[in-house]
Amino acid sequence: MKFIKKLAAVASAAALALSLAACGDDAGSADDKIVIGIKFDQPGLGLKVGDGYEGFDVEVAKYVAKELGYEENQIEFMEAPSPQRENLIMGGQVKLIFATYSITDARKEKIDFAGPYFIAGQDLLVSVDSDITGTDSLDGKKLCSVTGSTSAVKVKEQVPGVQLQEFDTYSKCVEALANGSIDAVTTDDVILAGYAAQEAYKGKLKVVGAPFSEERYGVGLKKGDTELCNNVNAAIQKMFDDGSWAAALEKTVGDSGYVLPEKPALDSCG
Ligand code: GLU
Repeated sequence: MKFIKKLAAVASAAALALSLAACGDDAGSADDKIVIGIKFDQPGLGLKVGDGYEGFDVEVAKYVAKELGYEENQIEFMEAPSPQRENLIMGGQVKLIFATYSITDARKEKIDFAGPYFIAGQDLLVSVDSDITGTDSLDGKKLCSVTGSTSAVKVKEQVPGVQLQEFDTYSKCVEALANGSIDAVTTDDVILAGYAAQEAYKGKLKVVGAPFSEERYGVGLKKGDTELCNNVNAAIQKMFDDGSWAAALEKTVGDSGYVLPEKPALDSCG
């Protein structure tokens, strides 16, 4: 009897360990759902609206997930702010990230990228009556960007004299610009266009229109998962070819007035 009790205890401990292990692998390979990182506060790209999500990154994420075998109700969207993206992938909390995420060599040390599926350029958002016309008029100005972004790194390189305030999201920078506590926000032009087109900022904020970098948006995934990378690339290529990519871009970014770019060529995986 004692022995049987012991056996039962061992069995239930094993079952618990098994279910814990399954929980640990929460980001999608259990096949019933996939966790995808997006932005929650970038209009036109990744925006949480009530219980739903909209934007170009969300559309590309849904298309790719479908090709990987996940219906929309099997996707769990998780917020992936710029400073946390590599950690969310390395820690297994998300399987994929679609979050205006530039492919860079520094990031490739930690994670892999599929894509690119979009190319943007770094620019400036200023008040409509600002005298800032580009990076050469930024000396001594108060600028805002986001920690862990390529935008913060590049502007520090290019304009050493700038006073840079760093937040963890661009929406906080835009609020600071709107209330006059800073002079400009810098990040990718397509992100800035989304804010400038918001009802609250129409006629108040403008994108300068002098891009000074090339930002190739990739899909972040675990380093070494070449199979997943190839599958994501195949899905993106299909989205390019069947017209869904252009339609999604028009639907999400079109209204901001941003000049819609051509499809990029995909990098190879591995
Ligand atoms: N694309 C740039 C980056 O990945 C800036 C936008 C962002 O922070 O999401 O850092």
